Amino acid sequence: MKRRQFLGRMGATVALSSAPGMVLAASCSNSDVSLSPIQARTDRITDVRVGLRPFRHAGPRIEAQRLGTKTVVHNYGHGGAGWSLSWGSSRLALRLAHDAGARSVAVIGCGAMGLTSAVLARQAGLAVCIYTKDMPSDVYSMAATGLWTPDSQLCDAVHAPRLAARWKEMANASFARYQTLLGLPGKPVEWIRGYSLSDTPFGAHSEAEEGEPVYGRLRDPSHDFIPRPVELCKGSHPFGQPYVRGWTTLMFNISAYAHMLLTSFLASGGRIKVIEFTRPGDLSNLREDTIINATGYGARKLFGDDSIVPIRGQIARLIPQPEVAYGLSTSQFNVVPRSDGLIVRSKGHNGDFNNSNDVPDLAESESAVRRIASMFDGMRRF
Ligand SMILES: Cc1cc2nc3c(=O)[nH]c(=O)nc-3n(C[C@H](O)[C@H](O)[C@H](O)COP(=O)(O)OP(=O)(O)OC[C@H]3O[C@@H](n4cnc5c(N)ncnc54)[C@H](O)[C@@H]3O)c2cc1C
Repeated sequence: MKRRQFLGRMGATVALSSAPGMVLAASCSNSDVSLSPIQARTDRITDVRVGLRPFRHAGPRIEAQRLGTKTVVHNYGHGGAGWSLSWGSSRLALRLAHDAGARSVAVIGCGAMGLTSAVLARQAGLAVCIYTKDMPSDVYSMAATGLWTPDSQLCDAVHAPRLAARWKEMANASFARYQTLLGLPGKPVEWIRGYSLSDTPFGAHSEAEEGEPVYGRLRDPSHDFIPRPVELCKGSHPFGQPYVRGWTTLMFNISAYAHMLLTSFLASGGRIKVIEFTRPGDLSNLREDTIINATGYGARKLFGDDSIVPIRGQIARLIPQPEVAYGLSTSQFNVVPRSDGLIVRSKGHNGDFNNSNDVPDLAESESAVRRIASMFDGMRRF
């Protein structure tokens, strides 16, 4: 495909408000934006994988439990926010392990929660072994899109007020930690810009999908961790949709990032063992005195926790295009410009909530890729 550049006169509508309901200024900043097109072709799909988000209506379970002579600290149930909250959540888990007098820690699982728990425990000077049924490349965490989404599908709106203070602590700690992981070789974490595209005004839709709860919104739009989205003036951008928002957020290059976590854990003297536990009693035989249970959706079976609801999510990877440095979000797909591939997450189909089918559906991803192609075809005419 011949590489083309899309040039658009971009404008940003900035609404400044000093008092409730009072808009001081509404203007568009004009700047030329050049977007390299995405080569959205199904023959460029290199990988399709499914993850099960471990959702709990009440939010994550981070608490200690006595199991025979051991203390088990649970650190699971983070829905669609696991990567974003991992450092903060694992810090809470480690605090509980310290309170229990931990000298050695068995971390069960090596997804986002297990890896960060293990790294923090090693940094605290504890002897640590990760026990996991899958190595990092095969865990559900690797099916994440990889954006800073600290309250995505995290809890039911009913439970949000009770969770708010703890969420803030987790989000603060995670965000601070991510600032230390910017600018590193391999770019495990970086800032990106992106665009949300819509045929209808933002906020005009009902928040709840059929069959799903209304999710808790814990982010405070007036004082958030990331810059606020900016509405772009109609006709000032190269997209076909009438409503466009520009945003800036943190992106996790999941492959590089998970590799960095694992290698730094091993380099610090941590150990890893591949094993599947079938019941809590299996954990009593471990030599470590304290256990951090970071089994994600696996906790449903291992600990019989039926409060965990699987939310299925599928991503496809297209061959990376380094010149595509922006993300896209529509009601039907997300695109995230990671270094290990252009991630395409299909959206807008019912049936993901309480769906534990983790078999990839290639047709679903191909359909999302074709939608992106048709969107770019429309932009050529724009
Ligand atoms: C499509 C999709 C997009 C997402 N996008 C984002 C995003 O952009 N940003 C974000 O922050 N979050 C995102 N998430 C959510 C995030 O991926 C999850 O919250 C996170 O992966 C949960 O991590 P975890 O470590 O708890 O679980 P997992 O990654 O499931 O890890 C569980 C670990 O426990 C092990 N295990 C399980 N059972 C046993 C057992 N019986 N014995 C031994 N080991 C066991 C597994 O092998 C694995 O190592 C997304 C999720 C999906 C599916």
